[in-house]
Amino acid sequence: RAKETGKARCVVYSPAHAGPPQHDISLEAAMFQAVREGEFLLYYQPIVDARTREIQGFETLMRWKHPTLGMVPPVRFIPIAETNGLINLLGAWALKAACVQLKQFEEVAKRSLYISVNISPRQFRNDKFLDVLDDAIAFSGLAGEQLVLEITEGTLMIDPVHAESILSKMAERKARIAIDDFGTGYSSLAYLKRFPISVLKIDRTFIRDLPGSQKDGAICNAVLDLAKHLDLSVVAEGVETEEQLRYLEERGCQYIQGYLTGKPMAANVALAALKESIHAKVLPAELRQVAQ
Ligand code: C2E
Ligand code: MG
Ligand code: MG
Ligand code: MG
Repeated sequence: RAKETGKARCVVYSPAHAGPPQHDISLEAAMFQAVREGEFLLYYQPIVDARTREIQGFETLMRWKHPTLGMVPPVRFIPIAETNGLINLLGAWALKAACVQLKQFEEVAKRSLYISVNISPRQFRNDKFLDVLDDAIAFSGLAGEQLVLEITEGTLMIDPVHAESILSKMAERKARIAIDDFGTGYSSLAYLKRFPISVLKIDRTFIRDLPGSQKDGAICNAVLDLAKHLDLSVVAEGVETEEQLRYLEERGCQYIQGYLTGKPMAANVALAALKESIHAKVLPAELRQVAQ
């Protein structure tokens, strides 16, 4: 804790620090306090098999539980952390903590799972990022292939030459790369050929109006077709209805993430869900309720 605080202070008083927009200064100041007080936590959202609905892995989603403001959503604090550099500290913590958490999930589930972690553009470009990655893998003892790193198209496009070198080093460690919010970024399809990418995550703006919207249907079908021919996995994000799930499953989408199959949840709730899924498999239906 003390060491973390030291690093955070070092970031906030750095002369290179550009400063956030005026209205966010109080929130920014509160963030450094929050790091010291341990107000950041991780939620986990299940990523399930579209056909069986069995949990395959979890996406790690950061939360800030402020004592008076309540839950501050990541859309408010991640951009600030990205601007002032605190994201490097928070992101390193999240990566390591998530890898350790996965080990506990697996113990309870009694099978192999994977963990998906968001990596911001600034983290991805940070000199220390590969050290952070190696530390998380070594400390947790998970296999590299159990780790999925989610980056956006924007992250790749800032400096494609640098990105290529980092991605190949990630691939050496067997970590898989997912393109988050696929199709919403400002980029070319050529990077799918050039970079070692394993997973496409279809953004939820393309899922929301399924199955009614012909245009969204066309986009999802095109992504699924592209992925199939490039041998990539697809995760559909933001699936909220049975109709959406059925539509996607029928068209060969293998993985689903959304409120329908599980909201982001605290680690202890995720553990309970994993326990319950063992019972569901092992016990006959009439015993399931007794067992709880
Ligand atoms: P993302 O990586 O695309 O994460 C998916 C977002 O969609 C999450 O929002 C999740 O709660 C939300 N979501 C999932 N299923 C549904 C659904 O069925 N309906 C609706 N309406 N929403 C759904 P969240 O947790 O608020 O995170 C927002 C964004 O903040 C993330 O988008 C990611 O870009 C960023 N973020 C979150 N945690 C981290 C982190 O640890 N590091 C970094 N760098 N960014 C993070
Ligand atoms: Mg993500
Ligand atoms: Mg996304
Ligand atoms: Mg996003």
